[in-house]
Amino acid sequence: MRDSILVTGGAGFLGSHLCERLLRDGHDVMCVDNYFSSSRSNIYHLLDNPHFEMVRHDLTVPFYAEVQAIYNLACPASPIHYQHDPVRTIKTNVQGAINMLGLAKRMKAKIFQASTSEVYGDPQIHPQHESYWGNVNPIGIRSCYDEGKRCAETLFFDYKRQYNIDIRVARIFNTYGPRMHKHDGRVVSNFILQALNNESITIYGDGQQTRSFCYVDDMVEAFVRFMNIKEDISGPINLGNPTEFTISELADKVVAMTGSRSKVIYKELPSDDPKQRQPDITQAKKSLDWKPTIELDEGLQKTITYFDQLLSNEMNSN
Ligand code: NAD
Ligand code: UDP
Repeated sequence: MRDSILVTGGAGFLGSHLCERLLRDGHDVMCVDNYFSSSRSNIYHLLDNPHFEMVRHDLTVPFYAEVQAIYNLACPASPIHYQHDPVRTIKTNVQGAINMLGLAKRMKAKIFQASTSEVYGDPQIHPQHESYWGNVNPIGIRSCYDEGKRCAETLFFDYKRQYNIDIRVARIFNTYGPRMHKHDGRVVSNFILQALNNESITIYGDGQQTRSFCYVDDMVEAFVRFMNIKEDISGPINLGNPTEFTISELADKVVAMTGSRSKVIYKELPSDDPKQRQPDITQAKKSLDWKPTIELDEGLQKTITYFDQLLSNEMNSN
């Protein structure tokens, strides 16, 4: 059956892939975004689709629509973007969640929350299981995002307890792929662009910190499975690729795969930068029958091809 689905942050990196997927699955998709950390070009190709509707709107302001399901993704995800206006980041996380939960309550709609591995902060338990409460600095430069997302999780579970809303809370670990914002400063896009331009690869700290990188198609598959499962499973569920790499290993891989002449340079590690991060995805495997299928080399190749094309298009238009 064709559902009406709202995707907040639908013009962003993950949101645009999710909108595409939901349209392919035969739904009507309404995308709400204020383009704070994205651009219209991510969704240009969807604008002619009669089942797609784009609304420019800031989620900190209430929004009403007739929908059966809501994916709440609106929030800048890269440290550069979310630290640019920290107060606004908290407002988007908290007031945005309240507005969307209110809509879900009114419409009796299912609602999915894009939470994050950042709720674990700089984790002292490794790998991170959903039962871990985290190690978050409440007053640091990442707190607007980490604590904002933690508060949003609280709101989701309180709305469920108080109003019996059908919620799905996913804790997303580092995800990458085509349509990451060119200037968002996240490590995969930074390294690929630096390598393609033969510029220095900027490793923050000694490069021994770890991350586990999930390709966007795997992540979107997990979102849809989580939203569609019939069982009453609210989560939180970790979603990510559990294969862990040091940042130095990632840099070496990107340089080798692009055949770049770039050399690595070391810069200061930003404060509160987590030392290690790896999802325990036992719960996702069991409840969603899901695990990532795209290894880092394959996903990186697709992402390199995307950025390479983007750079040549820019060069041709100059
Ligand atoms: P993104 O920055 O590309 O997308 C976020 C989108 O939200 C953008 O289009 C932005 O313009 C929009 N937005 C921001 N504030 C808004 C507001 N007040 N009103 C309306 N729209 C607003 O980031 P992404 O990587 O696509 O992340 C999507 C979601 O997934 C975010 O909630 C993020 O916290 C979460 N997440 C992502 C990752 C990842 O690795 N990509 C990891 C953990 C969590
Ligand atoms: N990082 C880096 N060089 C860069 C960008 C990021 O060494 O040019 C590091 C960053 O300090 C962090 C890791 O890569 O340890 C992942 O950073 P990102 O911003 O992608 O995500 P997050 O820290 O939110 O996991």
